[in-house]
Amino acid sequence: MAIEGNSVPDVQPNASREVNRRNLLRLTRSLGPIPRQQLAALTGLSTVTVAKIVRQLCQEGLVEEVGLNRTKGGRPAGMIQLKPDGGYVAGLLPRGHSSIGVIMNLSGEVVHIQAWDQRIYGLQDQVVDVLAAQLEELIANCGLPRDRMLGIGIGCPGLIDADRGRCIEAWALGCHDLELAEPLQQRLKLPVLIDNDVNCLTSYELLFGELQEHERSLVVTIGKGVGLGIVIDGLVYRGASGIAGEIGHAPVLGSSRPCECGQIGCLEGHVSDRGVVKNYAILSGAETHSLTPTDLVELARVGDPSAVAALKEGGAVLGTAMISLIHVLDPSSVLLVVADGIAEASDYYLPSLKSTIDARFRGRVNAPELIVSTVGYQSWARGAGSIALNHLFTPGAVASTFPVVTAETVR
Ligand SMILES: [Zn+2]
Repeated sequence: MAIEGNSVPDVQPNASREVNRRNLLRLTRSLGPIPRQQLAALTGLSTVTVAKIVRQLCQEGLVEEVGLNRTKGGRPAGMIQLKPDGGYVAGLLPRGHSSIGVIMNLSGEVVHIQAWDQRIYGLQDQVVDVLAAQLEELIANCGLPRDRMLGIGIGCPGLIDADRGRCIEAWALGCHDLELAEPLQQRLKLPVLIDNDVNCLTSYELLFGELQEHERSLVVTIGKGVGLGIVIDGLVYRGASGIAGEIGHAPVLGSSRPCECGQIGCLEGHVSDRGVVKNYAILSGAETHSLTPTDLVELARVGDPSAVAALKEGGAVLGTAMISLIHVLDPSSVLLVVADGIAEASDYYLPSLKSTIDARFRGRVNAPELIVSTVGYQSWARGAGSIALNHLFTPGAVASTFPVVTAETVR
């Protein structure tokens, strides 16, 4: 199994206690059961320091000692492994008119799930109140001791400054310039992390899903919008402004279609649910005001050539955009996560997308592996929880500049 981050852990013997602690947790999660000596060898820490941190982690209930690894002539050494139910995190995925939340254990297993049909769209000043209430309800209803909750992750659509815990612009939520993480953690007395929902899903895939063996990858989500998660050396790349991956609003050459972001010619307008319907309107000349993506797929299935062409065009345009990304970033794999109407249209859309990419890279050394996934929104909510778990396991996963409380400081 690949280890998140570099294969050689970025740690020195005199690094901070917190960094050492997270590295040991990360290695124990990835490689456990693992002897203390191997933890020391992999981190460069002394066996005394490793023993001290492991003892602390055992006392906190996060890891446990199992069996004995008796070497010839040597002293027996206990094997250290993660204790899955030693702690839990909450993940919340707010949408415009609904939310879904999960409670996960340290192994990423969902132990409780809850959904709300509640409007968030456009509430702006009340968003913190709504999210705090949903999280309180989620934690109260899961039936677990509050003191075993280690953190909260929130996955929001749009431009999110993960380092500062702020929503810069979330068109799908009708919110902008909103401080979220700090006010929520003050109310809930738990560490709160927020990130773009696609970055959250990417964290989930790295920790528990399709990308566990992939350290350089792209995650492309296609549905109502288009999103991109970038994995470089096992970490989610966020860019200089924290908003890397906004591929949905990259321009399509020669396009003048208006977009909800205020620009014209955005990729989403050609390849998303509404984009393929627009393709159909132009190709067929038909009135499409009330046409849904599901209707479009039905038209394709009964042989409407314009409907088939509209869906194939969406796949080809996205494939062309991805060719540029693949040339620049040289990923070993591209995970295509399809949802909503595009998932229904997979028979037409995906072959076009794949063949556009294959035609460019077939037989070349930098041809990435294309993986297709149709995860539901529960997995997106697990993604939100994953950023809280990643915060426990990975130094530098989010370089928060707002004061992240730790579970220890509030007990
Ligand atoms: Zn746009």
